[in-house]
Formats: sequence, C-alpha cells, structure tokens
Amino acid sequence: MPFTASVISAKEWGARPPKSWPAETRPQFIVIHHTASPNPPNDVSRGTLAGAKTFARSVQKAHMDGFGWADSGHNFLNTTGGFVLEGRQGTLNAIKRGRCVRSAHAGSDKGNESPGIENEGTFTTYQMNAQQWNSLVDLCASICSTTNINPDNIRGHRDFSPTQCPGDWLYNQLPRLRREVRQRLGTSDDEILREGSTGPKVRELQQILKAQGFNPGPVDGIFGSGTTDAVISFQKFHGLASDGLVGSSTWKVLERVSKSQEKPTDSSSSAPTPSPISAIALLDSYKYYRGLPHQLQAIEWLQGKLSKATLEEFSQRWRTQPSQPFLPLQEGSIGPEVKQLQQLLKKQGFDSGSTDGVFGAKTKAAVIAFQRAKGMEADGIVGAVTWPALNLA
Ligand SMILES: [Zn+2]
Repeated sequence: MPFTASVISAKEWGARPPKSWPAETRPQFIVIHHTASPNPPNDVSRGTLAGAKTFARSVQKAHMDGFGWADSGHNFLNTTGGFVLEGRQGTLNAIKRGRCVRSAHAGSDKGNESPGIENEGTFTTYQMNAQQWNSLVDLCASICSTTNINPDNIRGHRDFSPTQCPGDWLYNQLPRLRREVRQRLGTSDDEILREGSTGPKVRELQQILKAQGFNPGPVDGIFGSGTTDAVISFQKFHGLASDGLVGSSTWKVLERVSKSQEKPTDSSSSAPTPSPISAIALLDSYKYYRGLPHQLQAIEWLQGKLSKATLEEFSQRWRTQPSQPFLPLQEGSIGPEVKQLQQLLKKQGFDSGSTDGVFGAKTKAAVIAFQRAKGMEADGIVGAVTWPALNLA
C-alpha cells in the first residue's frame, strides 16, 4: 500500500528552516511518544487545525531555541483533533521513499534513526480519543508500508531510554496498535514467523535460507536461534529491516530469490551446465564478506578448489591490469576514487555536496552520517570497512 496518511508538511504549517539538514537513515522502528501536555479540554491545539499548526511551531521553537537543536526533535506530531504534522524537515520526503531522517526524540541512536511520533496529551491514565487514535493507526500503517518496518517494531519511547513516555495507558495500547496496523496492511499476526514458531512454513523458510547460503541449522521446522541468526543475515544481505521476524516483506524477498533459483532446465540435454545463479551468488558473497575477518579463509578455501591451469590463466588475465593498493580516503583526499565515493554516498542517500572528487568537510559529514546509520565507528575515514559497506546495494 502507498503512503496514504494525511500529513501537514512542515512548509504548510510555516516551519522555520532547519539549522542543518539531517542525514538519511534506514529506519527499523516506530517510536511512540506523548507530549505530556494537558488533555482536553485544556489541550494546546484545542482540537483545531489552526491550533495544531500553532502547536507545531511552538514545539519547533522550544527545540531550536531552547535545546539548541537543528530543528524539531520528533518526526511527526499527532494532535487531539487527529491532525498529523511533519516535524523534522525532510521526514515526509524520506519516509515516502522508504527511509527516514536522523532526529532527536528517543535519547538513543537506535531510536533517533527511526521515526518518532509525538501524540498530543498525557496518557498515563487518560485515554486517547477515537480521531487521534485513528490518525495514529493510519500514520503507522503508511510508515510500515513504505519503509517495510514490521509492525512488531512499533515501540514506546521507554523502550529506548529511561522515561515514563508515552505514559502507561498508551504504552499498554501498543499491542492493539500493532494489531490494527497489521489489519490495515492486510497481514495478520499469525502469518509472522518468529523464534518459537514451528511447522511446515518454518521448514520451507529453512530450506530457502539453506539454499541461499544462510545456514539456519537443521531443517526441522523448528524456528530456533540458528534460524533467527540466518534470517537476520538474510535480511541484512537484502537490505531489509534486520529484526529476525519473517513477515510479508521478508517472505516476498524469500519467494523471489527461491523462484529465481528454479530456472527452467533444458530437459533434452543431460549434460550438467554451470548454473548462472551460483556464479552470481559467489560475487554477492564476495561483496558481502569483504572486510570481514573470515574473508581470507573463504578466498583461501576457494583457491584450494581451483586447478593450477585456472589459477595460471587467472594471473595471466588479471595480473597485468593496472591496480593500486587501496588507500583510505579522508578529508583532503582528491581524485577519481573520491568522486566514486561521493557517487556511492549519494546513491545511498547521503548528500556530500557536489561530486567533484574533492574530499571536503561536506563529504566527511556525509561519511560520518553513513557510518552512524550503519552502526559503524564514525571517524569520517573511508577504509577497508566503510568502503565495502558503501558498495553493498
Ligand atoms: Zn517521548
């Protein structure tokens, strides 16, 4: 389903421009908050559209002038009248493309990389009215649909840092929120496989994982920790939210890859032909393992399997190709590698300014943003770990 929730953009409510533009992220969660402001009839927005816009402007002012932040800390504000307003600028655009922007609502990296929704009110015991609740369900369903965030990953602020937010009542409603979002998305709870699941569907999952080179342990129809690890590796490899849960988005990719493996074979010829799929898988595994400690072992193993003639031909072909040892790129570096780096950053949604082959402050900032988004050491230097990560599609 496309993004159908009705959201008032920051431009529409008259936001001030941000002090700096946030880096794009690959979100894994939705983080639910309450504003801890008065409930109706004393609510700040008074349930009106004009009141909602005024509220958004006052929150932005408090975050920028009071906290010294670049912009509003949250990604969305859902008011008592059921009006949803964009918070941090760039959010709406990024979410519609399946991404998010780094924000400042959750008190932890994991949360700040994910969209945070502020719900107007104090929900310790007070119960949200129906229109505000429906807007929240709509918004979450739209976000889950474009970003592939599993509804199980709709969490409360208190799951990320020590706080009472979003209040006991709203926190206890999160299972209901997840259920209603799933219904809106057309996926029911029992379609999701997770650790502890058993049955033929789990066996099928394990078979596909195994065939794809992600070892789930024994193919026994029991979803144990080995299967979880294999699912997480599979999800990482395919750029899915790596939560170890097999819902509709992960199944879609599992089905696609397992189908592409069942290439129609020419029955008239009994001669075994090398499968093009295994060649592609080898290249993908190489890209995936680059920079990881067991890469060397993998290459050595492969080398041991090759004939002397093949190895000789390999060196004939490739040894004479011009090549340079890989030097880390950092601020001050110039050249075609830097240009390539800037193109890769751009492709991944990190703006490094112009792709001019000059590693300046903006490129460094983009590298740091990328490293943070990937949970890597954010040193702004592109070496043996960052370079392969950038090359992964
Ligand atoms: Zn909060």
